[in-house]
Amino acid sequence: MNTLLQNKTIQIDGSQGEGGGQILRTALSLSMLTGIPFELVNIRAGRKKPGLMRQHLVCVQASQRISNAIVEGAELHSQKLYFQPQHVQTGKYDFHIGSAGSTILVLQTLLPALMMQSEASQITIHGGTHNPMAPTADFIQHCFFPFIQKLGIEVDFECERAGFFPIGAGQINITIHPWKSKLKHCILTKGKLLDIQGYAAALNIQQDIADRELEVLNNKLGLNQRKRVNFQGISQGNTAFVVLNYEHHQQVFSALGEKKKCAEKVAHDLAKQVKAYLDSNAVADEYLADQLLLPLALGQGGEFTAQVVSEHTKTQAEMIQKFLKCAIQIEPFNGIFKLKVIT
Ligand code: ATP
Repeated sequence: MNTLLQNKTIQIDGSQGEGGGQILRTALSLSMLTGIPFELVNIRAGRKKPGLMRQHLVCVQASQRISNAIVEGAELHSQKLYFQPQHVQTGKYDFHIGSAGSTILVLQTLLPALMMQSEASQITIHGGTHNPMAPTADFIQHCFFPFIQKLGIEVDFECERAGFFPIGAGQINITIHPWKSKLKHCILTKGKLLDIQGYAAALNIQQDIADRELEVLNNKLGLNQRKRVNFQGISQGNTAFVVLNYEHHQQVFSALGEKKKCAEKVAHDLAKQVKAYLDSNAVADEYLADQLLLPLALGQGGEFTAQVVSEHTKTQAEMIQKFLKCAIQIEPFNGIFKLKVIT
């Protein structure tokens, strides 16, 4: 791994680009990986309620714990943070968000540093597993992890209990293995579409919600397989997700049930997203695109096409290039986008 600077504190303005929590999480991940301290100001300045919310604070505290970091400003609503990691310690960890905040985003913060160690770590995180504006446990399990596995990164993942807003109380268990063999420059393709699978779950609410969603998904997408999933947990909630299995890629789209939004509409909107992707020829959807950049930058680089390049993806690219010696190129390509990570 080529780091850009040694020991010089990196100054980061949290209001840049997308101005959200991803800037903080990526800074934590890269700081732990490289050992480079950072000072972040204007945390989440682009959001209605700026500063550190519960999930962000747990990301900072969990990062501090695994890297024995010296930290200033780790308080709820804080808009300024100094973070100086010492050394990353593998082991067994248990983190509680204490709200329905996303366990998956906490995991994504810790994963890069832990997968670069020579011993495995076992992590349990309690909180939300199916949150709006975050990858769901299903997305991470069936889309993100299969991708990083192609790069040689091994993670065992289990969603023991699902957690929906506002109660949360979900639990994910993860074992992160050392990244032993890094694949050469990875050109991600998808190949032929093999099948389309639809899944839906209704936790502690009427089960017919899931069946109605699967019915709509089947009518709109012609599912090859459909299944109602039984989640465990004490919160109430609903999710539907579609897995597109290609020869060389697995893409997932997920939706969450909302109060005052009927099951048919949830499934209809989800099917619309899937259709737009199917029509686009791109390998990664908008969300996977921003999540692929860091694993590629930590490996031997790579390239892929994306349906959309969000402000999020551009900000993520800028953050990575602040800490690592790599170049990330994003250019329009036949109505979609091509992203190249050169290490
Ligand atoms: P903020 O702090 O700014 O309110 P946040 O901390 O929750 O937000 P964002 O900065 O918005 O986080 O980042 C959210 C992450 O979740 C991004 O990596 C994005 O790709 C991912 N994400 C959002 N929606 C989905 C989705 N439907 N499927 C998969 N991933 C998603």
